[in-house]
Amino acid sequence: MPGSETRAQLPSAAPPVQRPNWRAYLWAAPCTACGLLLAAPLLLAGASLWRRDGILVLSVAGKSRQWPRLARRLPFVAITFGHLVIGANPAVLRRWRAHEREHVRQYERWGALFFLAYPAASLWQLLRGYPPYASNHFEVQARAAEASASL
Ligand SMILES: [Zn+2]
Repeated sequence: MPGSETRAQLPSAAPPVQRPNWRAYLWAAPCTACGLLLAAPLLLAGASLWRRDGILVLSVAGKSRQWPRLARRLPFVAITFGHLVIGANPAVLRRWRAHEREHVRQYERWGALFFLAYPAASLWQLLRGYPPYASNHFEVQARAAEASASL
């Protein structure tokens, strides 16, 4: 019958708009706040901060010429606190985007409990005789997300 097509049958010109999940932001907010507190000195010293797809991204190697040297001394290349991803520089942040986004999703699931769950997962692997970082369940998930994003 003409005119009886449902909306689901009509072709869509654009993908559906993803609405922010405010509950996930609130749930992870204590972790994001901790990250922002830790990052405050970096921001005051000239690190770059921007927002991408609802996630705050901070590049330690900001506008100052001193920062690339400091960024190389960091004990990590990138780290995530809630909805804040901190990385040594923009290239590193691009390289680790999928990995760190998986950590953001983990924070959205676990909230502040992630601060306990992550080290507990490392301790569990250590007690089992496995490398605590590489075998950590959350890192395994993040590497899987990274691998599927590069396909
Ligand atoms: Zn990771």
